[in-house]
Amino acid sequence: MRVLVTGGAGYIGSVVAEELLQAGHQVVVFDNLSRGHRQAVPKNAELVVGDMADRACLDQLLRSRAIDAVMHFAALIEAGESMKAPEEFFRNNTSNALTLLEAMLAARVKCLVFSSTAALFGNPERTPIEEDDPLHPTNAYGESKLLVERMLAWFHQIHGLRYASLRYFNAAGASRPDQGEAHQPETHLIPRILQVALGRAEHVNIFGTDYPTPDGTCVRDYIHVGDLARAHLLALQALENSSPLIYNLGNGQGFSVREVVEVARSVTGHPVPVIESPRRAGDPAVLIASSKKIRRDLGWQPRFPDLKSIVESAWQWHRKHPDGYPR
Ligand code: UDP
Repeated sequence: MRVLVTGGAGYIGSVVAEELLQAGHQVVVFDNLSRGHRQAVPKNAELVVGDMADRACLDQLLRSRAIDAVMHFAALIEAGESMKAPEEFFRNNTSNALTLLEAMLAARVKCLVFSSTAALFGNPERTPIEEDDPLHPTNAYGESKLLVERMLAWFHQIHGLRYASLRYFNAAGASRPDQGEAHQPETHLIPRILQVALGRAEHVNIFGTDYPTPDGTCVRDYIHVGDLARAHLLALQALENSSPLIYNLGNGQGFSVREVVEVARSVTGHPVPVIESPRRAGDPAVLIASSKKIRRDLGWQPRFPDLKSIVESAWQWHRKHPDGYPR
């Protein structure tokens, strides 16, 4: 297939682009490089630098490259930031997704795999979280993605869009030596901890120690980026026979912030000092996925289900690329 990967210069999009190429697909990456990196784009993918808000550019691209399917990663992702500037999240994530959907409709591209998120669930009523559980985001990031999921359902019903929505829990790790996490600035827990281990920062802040969890810190379900990538390929294939496909993607096991720090200490051999700090706005206490549905329907199986191997793979990347991708 000829697949358009929006945000394919970013952390997860670039890994999926590589997996698509390995599986024999043709890949066009569309990215404005505001957060992504030219060097993260796989060699055999075409990179088109452009903005998701540019409808004319999307129209032209979908037609001229005869795109069969779109994987949509381009988005703002920091939940904490969304509680300071929600407007940026609704513009970039919600409004730009609508622009993409309209362009797909006009170009008769019927197949979409959408990057969704555990943030849709907010504070869940039960754990592990299943796909049909109530959706009550506690931050504007989650809301901006939930609105897209709702649009997708209507586009499916009214226009016959075939789509998969993959709700990632906490993506982490690196799947090959030359592709890894390099956000600027970095806000995610595992890379922040590894920056301390590299001597780039003196301590890591623990955001909130008074959550209703066993050690008072937030609990998350970490999933290896390569395992996420394989789920995208399975979903793309499955869309030929059924739609919509909505899946939670995690390992079904939660780790507190303190536990993640502990694992990173043992992987890196660095003491990783911590400072207990106030809560970050919008953080749910516990997010753990049930991924039974994607295992059952698509035969998805994580290859790196344990946190230690996820942190080890991230550590290999960060040690070799302490400054991320070259500018
Ligand atoms: N976190 C933290 N210190 C940091 C970064 C994150 O304590 O420097 C916490 C954060 O509050 C959340 C968890 O670690 O409870 C995972 O945060 P991250 O930003 O990695 O992912 P999110 O769950 O927001 O998608």
